[in-house]
Amino acid sequence: MAEFKDKVALVTGSSRGIGRAVALELASRGAFVIVNYAQNEAAAREVLSTIGNSGGKGEIRHFDVANTTVVQDEIGKIGEQLGGLHILVNNAGITRDGLIVRMKEEDWDVVLSIDLKGVFNCTRAAAKIMMKQKYGRIINIASIIGEMGNAGQVNYSAAKAGIIGFTKSAAKELGSRAITVNAVSPGFIETDMTRNLPENIRNKYVEGIPLGRFGTPENVAKVVAFLASDDASYITGEVVRVNGGLYT
Ligand code: NAP
Repeated sequence: MAEFKDKVALVTGSSRGIGRAVALELASRGAFVIVNYAQNEAAAREVLSTIGNSGGKGEIRHFDVANTTVVQDEIGKIGEQLGGLHILVNNAGITRDGLIVRMKEEDWDVVLSIDLKGVFNCTRAAAKIMMKQKYGRIINIASIIGEMGNAGQVNYSAAKAGIIGFTKSAAKELGSRAITVNAVSPGFIETDMTRNLPENIRNKYVEGIPLGRFGTPENVAKVVAFLASDDASYITGEVVRVNGGLYT
């Protein structure tokens, strides 16, 4: 399927988990995919070789989405060297959980910097390229925690709720240039981020999920790819939940 032939896609944090699945999905549909990571170079290389082995194309770009200057520089270079940037998936994210009274300022700051400011940094740099192209698809990965809250995650839920407001405002600003901006809000997905949940807590979450299981990274990736496609050309400012019915 060459649906995204001639499209350049940047997926932040695509060395593992949901980002990895999104990178593979977009590449399998013909996009040239930029695999971005923060620390895990070996994992990023594995993603790129999986793309190549399936006949897809892409490259790796290492940068920290929280670093404003570096992001501007890196995304500017992508636009110049690859002849544009058509799809941006703001996926990079971390957690630093703790109860509010015990939460360290640095745990608040680092989560807001990567999970929310990272979205601003990448979107601002990409929007400059997309506005000139008069085409763009921006998909931000929010979270069910930003919608329903969770004890021990004030930093993460504030960042993820922020992404939803950011998405709606950016959609209004960029719509006139045929750039759509949407969010995907996953529920509990099987990745490194959820791997260390204690068994009793995991079981409690599963009990509340109508579909009776955690989601897969691929479940999220398919929806991201839909929002990046021509089939979604009249959808913007939307939040699509992929949560097995846990929160509606
Ligand atoms: P993950 O398996 O922990 O992977 C996180 C990815 O983000 C890795 O590729 C990591 O790169 C990258 N990353 C971290 N900090 C970065 C930075 N400063 N700059 C660039 N890349 C960075 O996480 P995941 O579960 O796939 O989560 C992906 C997104 O989905 C996150 O935004 C998360 O909040 C959201 N989400 C996840 C769930 C879930 O249940 N898993 C639910 C809702 C929303 P390295 O490999 O180099 O560390």
